Amino acid sequence: MSLPGIPFLDLVTPHVELEQELTAVFQKALHTAGFIGGPMVENFEKAFATFCGTEHAVGVGSGTDALRFALMAAGVCPGDVVVTVPNTFIATTEAISQAGALPEFVDIDERTYNMDPEKLREYLETQCAISADGRLVSKRSNRPVRAIVPVHLYGQMADMDLILELADHFNLIVVEDACQAHGAQYFSRKQNRWLAAGSVGKAAAFSFYPGKNLGACGEAGAVTTNDPALAAQVRMIRDHGQAKKYYHNVEGYNGRLDAIQAGLLHVKLQHLAKWNEQRRERAAEYNRLFENVENPVATPYEPAWSRAVYHLYVVRVDDREGLIAFLKNEGIGTGIHYPIPLHLQTAYRALNYLPGDLPKTEQAAAQIVSLPMFPTLSPEQQASVVHQVRHFLEAKTKTGLLDAVRLEPAGRTS
Ligand SMILES: *Cc1c(COP(=O)(O)O)cnc(C)c1O
Repeated sequence: MSLPGIPFLDLVTPHVELEQELTAVFQKALHTAGFIGGPMVENFEKAFATFCGTEHAVGVGSGTDALRFALMAAGVCPGDVVVTVPNTFIATTEAISQAGALPEFVDIDERTYNMDPEKLREYLETQCAISADGRLVSKRSNRPVRAIVPVHLYGQMADMDLILELADHFNLIVVEDACQAHGAQYFSRKQNRWLAAGSVGKAAAFSFYPGKNLGACGEAGAVTTNDPALAAQVRMIRDHGQAKKYYHNVEGYNGRLDAIQAGLLHVKLQHLAKWNEQRRERAAEYNRLFENVENPVATPYEPAWSRAVYHLYVVRVDDREGLIAFLKNEGIGTGIHYPIPLHLQTAYRALNYLPGDLPKTEQAAAQIVSLPMFPTLSPEQQASVVHQVRHFLEAKTKTGLLDAVRLEPAGRTS
């Protein structure tokens, strides 16, 4: 008997549904030979800035470029320390290193999987010192701390009020890694209003990698900001450091957003709010189904101050590897985001972190599983996923091999 199968992600359906509009973009580019820059890029940039509630959006080649250029344009210099979390994709720290800076890590809140502002405070107050010339210096590396990169992981924003307050107090730049959070919102208790991902820090980075909530048909990214000088600087850096053709103010990069990708993204952007709403409905349905599962599955925690857009639906179980193998056998796709925390990656051996240094991240990394999540996921498919998860857990509990996943509350609770 062949299984119907439930993919982890369905990238085909939305493109088939929009095929005519998307093909028209490609034809327009062919007929005008407008491949680099031009109105398709500018129009998408304007529309994406409006979507994020920012003054500016600057299209670039990828999310990694977006973060690197944003850090550089925001004033991160070679030799600086940039503080981030280890529970993220390596592009976050690649961008920091490629800007010439050194990543240092603070742990996450184990319920939201995002930067724990209290851990950030602890790092800034106890792991750093004020040097003779008044700069905040990391004791670990003896280098000046310049910026914080909170990552809005899985489509949920980090708790920004406290992060911004600490940044303000220690005179640090905040650049959001919003690569998984297009359209996510955060209720700032301080400003008493909802803020969109990408509009909170000095600048933010977005990725339009195909699998993201807003994905190109290839590589693409954008920097958002309210600062016109920063936007101008990113425009220059993405285009070989030139403000005017062949007049190079600085050495830059070939990091532009392709016009065809911009045109395709503009078509898809019209559907993003609806797709995000569908993701939220799918998440609510999973939550509802898991309520009836006796065995412990820690479902995503969405605080009252958050409106997540569920780029991923991540649960936590004991024997994650067993569950993944079981679901695979049933034709159900899953993912792990991410199995090895960055501070323990071989690539970062030279940073000298040890197992146990960032325990909340390490515990999460061993237990998290991302279940199928995409806007056209059907309730029937979800019922089948949860049915199989329950099936696996019941069999495990009977044999007494399963320990309950118990999570202690941490951080803010409302
Ligand atoms: C996807 C992603 C990036 C990098 O984006 P690319 O477009 O692949 O370069 C950076 N940070 C996070 C958290 C991501 O998920």
